[in-house]
Amino acid sequence: MANTSPINPFETAKQQIDIVADLIGINDGLREVLKHPKRELTVNFPVRMDDGSYRVYTGYRVQYNMARGPTKGGIRYHPQVSLDEVRALAAWMTWKCAVVNIPYGGAKGGVICDPKHLTRGELERLTRRYASEIAPIIGPEMDIPAPDVYTDSQTMAWIMDSYSMLKGYSVPGVVTGKPISLGGSEGRGEATGRGCAYVIREAAKDAGVKVKGAAVAIQGFGNAGSVAGNILYDEQGAKIVAVSDSRGGIYKSDGLNPHAVEAHKQKTGSVVGFPGAKEISNDEVLEAKADILVPAALENQITKRNADRIQAKIVAEAANGPTLPEADAILFQKKVTVLPDILANAGGVTVSYFEWAQDIQGYFWGLDEVNSRLERTMMRSYSDVHKVAVEKKVHNRTAAYVLAIQRVVDAIKIRGIYP
Ligand code: NAD
Repeated sequence: MANTSPINPFETAKQQIDIVADLIGINDGLREVLKHPKRELTVNFPVRMDDGSYRVYTGYRVQYNMARGPTKGGIRYHPQVSLDEVRALAAWMTWKCAVVNIPYGGAKGGVICDPKHLTRGELERLTRRYASEIAPIIGPEMDIPAPDVYTDSQTMAWIMDSYSMLKGYSVPGVVTGKPISLGGSEGRGEATGRGCAYVIREAAKDAGVKVKGAAVAIQGFGNAGSVAGNILYDEQGAKIVAVSDSRGGIYKSDGLNPHAVEAHKQKTGSVVGFPGAKEISNDEVLEAKADILVPAALENQITKRNADRIQAKIVAEAANGPTLPEADAILFQKKVTVLPDILANAGGVTVSYFEWAQDIQGYFWGLDEVNSRLERTMMRSYSDVHKVAVEKKVHNRTAAYVLAIQRVVDAIKIRGIYP
């Protein structure tokens, strides 16, 4: 989803670096390295439209930091894509990969366009041309794109094919989030929600919350939110009391069956109108009487306006950036356990890493193997973050940034500054 905040997201990303640098004592020179994207490519390219006319589009690919390995990050199609937004998202990908300790740096790409007003043929030509424009700087050993806002497995298939045509042989490892038939991974579609459910389970032990029977509210019953809900319900015995989508929310104090809600949403286009549930607003979902809250929709949802009314003891950020810094402080004071986005939704990039690892080996794993490796990664990552939070007496978000930035700094230092 686009960043709807008037604040320049790259300024925010740089401020976060400063906060951590102060906390762990990073020198000025390294601070500057961390605040600059390593490589940025802007491409302007023509696309033939269905009516025979040509239109010029602008796209970006930013490789933020590759000290820990090839860079990884999605490609976004949106009218509001800007270079600073792409830079910020690339920085956040760097920290997210470092938190879960996968051997990647961070990157991001975007094309300024409105995919809702493009035909499938136009989208395919735009994607193939953008892919060939950025081809010199992507590749399985260099930078591996993935889907993001308004791009999907079909987009990745077109990029994989265009890149492979340039090379003269098939290169499945150039992108992740591909269809299974092209070297995609089992479990990738569910990975973000599943990873989030594992992190909740681990954090609940430290927060003194029993997930079995706990009341859960989910804002945004889409891919990430519905999968997290299903797993909390099916595997951990939680009670899903409230869910919502862009049309509104529903509440049932003795619990909803998330599979039935999903079926209703598929049939009618929304969770609203689910039989036997009370209709509530999206704000009421956030403030519902629940032990666990999963914001899984948009950014900037928990602010100083509503943070005080959040009743949950655990807030697990399946969405990117749902909590403003002003609200973080309030939640910390209220002793709410916030599981920050770069940890709570890192299951997606983790299974993307597994997809790439399978592609470059040419050997594919079953779903059980993918899920058990994901579970181990999320458990270890939560434990690493929690340890830093306790040691440094900071909340989990700062702890996750400390852990991630320290790992990147260690890699930069041990490699040394070339030449
Ligand atoms: P999605 O489009 O499948 O789901 C989003 C859901 O949010 C939809 O049900 C939509 O109706 C709902 N929604 C939209 N506006 C809303 C509003 N104002 N109030 C309540 N609900 C609203 O998208 P997704 O892939 O599940 O992504 C959701 C969030 O998770 C995003 O922030 C995304 O960046 C983040 N995320 C997703 C993945 C992934 O692998 N899917 C990985 C990392 C982060």
